[in-house]
Amino acid sequence: MKPASHHLTRCRRCGASICWALTSANGRRQPVDAEPTEAGNLAVMQAADGALYVRAVTAARPEIRPGEWRAMPHHATCKAPPPRRSGGQRARSGVRPVPWQARP
Ligand SMILES: [Zn+2]
Repeated sequence: MKPASHHLTRCRRCGASICWALTSANGRRQPVDAEPTEAGNLAVMQAADGALYVRAVTAARPEIRPGEWRAMPHHATCKAPPPRRSGGQRARSGVRPVPWQARP
């Protein structure tokens, strides 16, 4: 199985072919490499509503069910450096972005 062509998009940072899937754990969007790989630690499936869902392949649930395919999270393979600005991802409040430093 592979993601349907209408799910395919490009990573805005490195241009790789990816698709967005919803995590079955908490429904958050996660970029997944479009190309299936046996080395992937995710199982992706297209639900009846057409959306892609992704779940972690764990020791407790290692089997790939019919309709699923293995893929890598794009975070693991993205070739672009991490974004400097927190576009979309808001910095956690209450956490200083830089450590305290003694002024000279
Ligand atoms: Zn990327």
